[in-house]
Amino acid sequence: MGVKVCKFGGSSLADAAQIQKAKEIIQSDPDRRYIVASAPGKRSSEDQKITDLFYLCHAHAKQGIAFDEVFKLIADRYQGIVADLGLDLDLTAHLEKTQQDIAAGASEDYAASRGEFLNGPIIAASLGYEFIDPAEVIFFDGSGRFDAEKTQEVLSERLSKIERAVVPGFFGSLPDGQIKTFSRGGSDITGAIVARAAGADVYENWTDVSGLLRTDPRIVDQPQTIDTLTYRELRELAYMGASVMHDEAIFPVRAAGIPINIRNTNAPEHPGTLIVAQTDAQVSAGCITGIAGRKDFTVLAIEKTLMNTEMGFGRRILEVLEVNGVSFEHMPSGIDTMSIVIADSELEGKVNKVVEEIKMAVKPDNVSVYPNMALIATVGQGMAHSLGVSAKLFGSLSEAGVNIRMIDQGSSEMNIIVGVEASDFEKAVQAIYAAFVGA
Ligand code: ASP
Repeated sequence: MGVKVCKFGGSSLADAAQIQKAKEIIQSDPDRRYIVASAPGKRSSEDQKITDLFYLCHAHAKQGIAFDEVFKLIADRYQGIVADLGLDLDLTAHLEKTQQDIAAGASEDYAASRGEFLNGPIIAASLGYEFIDPAEVIFFDGSGRFDAEKTQEVLSERLSKIERAVVPGFFGSLPDGQIKTFSRGGSDITGAIVARAAGADVYENWTDVSGLLRTDPRIVDQPQTIDTLTYRELRELAYMGASVMHDEAIFPVRAAGIPINIRNTNAPEHPGTLIVAQTDAQVSAGCITGIAGRKDFTVLAIEKTLMNTEMGFGRRILEVLEVNGVSFEHMPSGIDTMSIVIADSELEGKVNKVVEEIKMAVKPDNVSVYPNMALIATVGQGMAHSLGVSAKLFGSLSEAGVNIRMIDQGSSEMNIIVGVEASDFEKAVQAIYAAFVGA
């Protein structure tokens, strides 16, 4: 028998009807043996996530404000789900203890984790699977960092003895037994950790979209779904804003070579997106995988004749950034020019100081500041060693009348980044998409 680890997100478990869909998906394949469950999410756009309600309870308790009404919303949600599913499960004692603990000053992480902790038994009961408390199998070290080694050891041992189990996502425990959560959306990370510990054939991440789209659907109408991409391509796209799951969820499964399959609970027949270590370079040659981008960057363009002959020029500039606590994104350079691309959030209130200090440090002929820049990453393994890709990319932008301010090609050759005026951002993404994928 194979092993599939399935993580279901909040929208996939938002109410009894959604849980029923998840149950049918799980039961349709006997390999779906380990289930990682989020807390119930939003049922509609105006609805509240259970996790947010728990954060609210904690914030109230911390200020000494009564939170019974908010807690009642939480309790009613769970009781309603149990009743609608017709389960023989009484969560009253658990709910009462949770409310008391929060009122008695339990930590924010403890409060937030209860969304998953209380949902776990519901999912386990509806499937007839065993429940595993993550506090017993997922560990953080004394400084709050995830302890991959200890977790792998304890969790894999535990799973080897249990054929089918539900593990709530999002949290684990510190060495002193206190609850610690991952950052928001962290059930994706738990799913990857469980997949690694189970030695899974695949990590299925069930959500409410049918995979990763080639670009942002708010910019391009109905973009294609990416059927397969590599972990690295996903990293590049995610860094530039494409999001489908938590960034850190890749690491545990990538280390173990376990593919991730993003699937849609509301359209289970769709194969979704598969994320793997390697794709067939031959098949994807000359093609792109996706386009992602972000606004709110500033470019500092530094010019100095014969800068290339001046030893330590780049170091002195980077030292200015370091001293000012500014991290940069890209630094393409020419013979007499060097551009530094920096996110606006890094430069807030510091632009003039940084420019003045650069002037003092390297005595340039000129430093220009270009605010309101956007970066667009065109990503694809198939671009590497493939002739004509850049010509097509730059040709499409020039035809669309987009002025390119900066070009940077990662050393892997699978990512070409262009900097354009923020006002040209959408037009540029549309032009690149049309050139490579079609209108
Ligand atoms: N429930 C948590 C959150 O809302 C974790 C998760 O759903 O992944 O962030």
